[in-house]
Amino acid sequence: MKKVYADNAATTNVSKPVLEAMLPIYENVYGNPSSLYEIGAEARVYLDNARETVAKCLGANQNEIYFTSGGSESDNWAIKGVAHALMAKGKNHIITSKFEHHAVLHTCEALRKEGFEITYLEVYENGIVKPEDVEKAIKDTTALVTIMYANNEIGTIQPIKEIGAICKKHGVLFHTDAVQAIGNVHIDVKEQNIDLLSLSGHKFHAPKGVGALYIRRGIRIPNLIDGGAQESGKRAGTENVAGIVGLAKALEIATETIDSKNEKLKKMTSRLIDEVLKIERSRLNGDREKRLPGNVSFCFEGIEGESLLLMLDMKGISASSGSACTSGSLDPSHVLLSIGLPHEIAHGSLRLSFSDVNCEEDIDYIIETLPPIVNRLRAMSPLWDRIING
Ligand SMILES: *Cc1c(COP(=O)(O)O)cnc(C)c1O
Repeated sequence: MKKVYADNAATTNVSKPVLEAMLPIYENVYGNPSSLYEIGAEARVYLDNARETVAKCLGANQNEIYFTSGGSESDNWAIKGVAHALMAKGKNHIITSKFEHHAVLHTCEALRKEGFEITYLEVYENGIVKPEDVEKAIKDTTALVTIMYANNEIGTIQPIKEIGAICKKHGVLFHTDAVQAIGNVHIDVKEQNIDLLSLSGHKFHAPKGVGALYIRRGIRIPNLIDGGAQESGKRAGTENVAGIVGLAKALEIATETIDSKNEKLKKMTSRLIDEVLKIERSRLNGDREKRLPGNVSFCFEGIEGESLLLMLDMKGISASSGSACTSGSLDPSHVLLSIGLPHEIAHGSLRLSFSDVNCEEDIDYIIETLPPIVNRLRAMSPLWDRIING
């Protein structure tokens, strides 16, 4: 049976060149970067080079890059860090959006319990935050605006530069969860007015458990982990050198290939969208143009997303109903509700996300496999019967 991995927004494979960059670290350069002898010093050089590469890919300076264990950690550190740093100055208000990743939403919720006030901005039917809404929500007590670069469930890309400019104008710090955007859009933190940015390796062909946080020079936030002097003393613990080297390699490749990859993915997903929308009572979630080229999210009326996933899996297609983090729960996705979908439609969701490992044959296979499955599920669905026969 043909196998199609169409869940690259949940995680990606580690690519060959990334693995090849990592292996020598495990085998030969296994010294502790803080040790003074040769293989320690050698590991330090790899670490420094990786930091320089990551900084270059973001338009940042080396000393603004802090390695972490991934996206969730970077989001937690950025948001709680800024909140706690500015609390003493009477700043206790945070602005975010309704459709952030749970790493951001649950962090904001934790801060709310500590006494912070949180504003959740609308994302409208197209799944895009309005910069003017950000400006209207800012007040004297606002410490931070945190808006994701691209949404993980519906792929919509946010007007980051404009939001950053508004924050700058009002002297408010701006964090973006760029976990989905990294390697898919051109990012320049200075040009785009970004103060803090989270990224995670496993979304762009580096291993799981390694990520980074960009913190603009001059912003002082509390240490995440106290201990040794690693990461400028702000996040202690012996560095995951191989993971970091892999992350830098993956980011370098992803950044160099953005345009060619996007051209290919856009062609693939445009065809997929056109074909899938021929299914009656189907819809594409989020803006058709302002989206990650590799991400498509559909809803099919009258069926359950979970059943759809199981049947696709039986045909060798790995997909998701939305976010990997909420699968298993019966609640519809907060992202789909945030763009105004009623519960019963949000339940019938399907996210297909592609990376440069996918090809046109994968799209052919999905186009051939998906519509009959939707029809079969609908034939068995009392809900569909009611939709059609009133
Ligand atoms: C995957 C993801 C995260 C979490 O990253 P981890 O490295 O898995 O902790 C955070 N935000 C977004 C938008 C994501 O897609």
